[in-house]
Amino acid sequence: MSIETILVLNAGSSSIKFQLFKGEESVLSGQIDGLGANAWVKGKSAEGETLMDRALTAEEAQNHNTALQVILALVHQFDPNVEVDAIGHRVVHGGTQFTHPVLVTEEVEKELEAINNLAPLHNPHNLAGIAGAKAAFPGKPNVACFDTAFHRTQEFKNEAYAIPLKFYEEGVRRYGMHGQSFHFISEELHNVAPEIANGKIVVAHLGNGASMCAIENGKCVTTTMGFTPLDGLAMGTRCGLIDPGVVLYLIGEKGMSVEEVGHLLNKESGMKGLSGISQDMRDLENSDSPAAKKALEYYDNRVKRELGALVAVMGGIDALVFTGGIGENSSLTRAGVCEGLEFLGIEIDEEANKARAKDAITISKPSSRVKIMAIPTNEEGMIARQTRAICEA
Ligand code: ADP
Repeated sequence: MSIETILVLNAGSSSIKFQLFKGEESVLSGQIDGLGANAWVKGKSAEGETLMDRALTAEEAQNHNTALQVILALVHQFDPNVEVDAIGHRVVHGGTQFTHPVLVTEEVEKELEAINNLAPLHNPHNLAGIAGAKAAFPGKPNVACFDTAFHRTQEFKNEAYAIPLKFYEEGVRRYGMHGQSFHFISEELHNVAPEIANGKIVVAHLGNGASMCAIENGKCVTTTMGFTPLDGLAMGTRCGLIDPGVVLYLIGEKGMSVEEVGHLLNKESGMKGLSGISQDMRDLENSDSPAAKKALEYYDNRVKRELGALVAVMGGIDALVFTGGIGENSSLTRAGVCEGLEFLGIEIDEEANKARAKDAITISKPSSRVKIMAIPTNEEGMIARQTRAICEA
């Protein structure tokens, strides 16, 4: 089947982000927020023309199904003759069984429901998005693309935690996230730096959530996020790597409930918790406060520490790629991470590093053994590409 037009959906608890692709090109994008209450829809064309910017009626705002009808109307407003050929869905968790994107069937939906407990804040809403798309675009293929799938090439020694093996067998493992982003960067390197694309790459996806991935020959060796997105780097509001003993202390000594600890580590920690100012890197970079400076130093140091671990496990590094909102834009973070890593062959070029990565940029010195780049990620584009590949297979 030839697939020309693909709608990519990222359905959350109260929001749905969407992008319409014609071929590889994104032509329409937008978002519905506030589902269930005061919902709002925004949609604009690739040229920046606003096509919809309004409150949803109470009827439209009820749930994912009703919201998908609004997206359908927007797509038709954009192009009355358009036919959506397939819908690609971001599904956060694919458990142990989904190692690749998959065409959604009733069987697949049942299997996904069975692993809702692995990502209770995300997967049930991703499934609601699938149900909504089935109703809005009857008969069209839906493809589930998983954040975790790219990391299923990890060996046991990188995937397991050293707790009794039965937990590994029941699914307590390092799943990793941001798979669409890592996969996209890995493929994009063939266009922008083919000489190292099959080499040993470390990608730092630094956004509100953040993780790093060691990739060799296009395959994930290992990654910093774990069983949940709480592990690894310090993030906007998440703590990242922490001694599990701290969790025991918070519960046993401070009398905190599981929910309270979850809230503390997910929502009140990271840059927000350390700085006491903001979770947004721009606020911290613009602040004179010593706490902001310390938080930024902490952030860079965590990236550096994970970089060392990933390079050691992979047995070398040919390229370091920064991506995500911070990786693409923050020259301060990139400089801070690379500082002092000349012994690894990582030499950043101060001038080149001043640029923002609107397109892929190289920011290493010509003498640097390791190529350092900043590349804009495109998770939705990756989902569209995977959706096309599955439907045309
Ligand atoms: P998400 O993980 O939600 O997709 P993004 O990848 O868009 O987030 O990253 C958002 C973060 O990027 C913001 O919190 C902000 O800290 C950071 N950011 C964006 N622009 C800049 C900039 N010019 N300088 C520093 N940080 C920036």
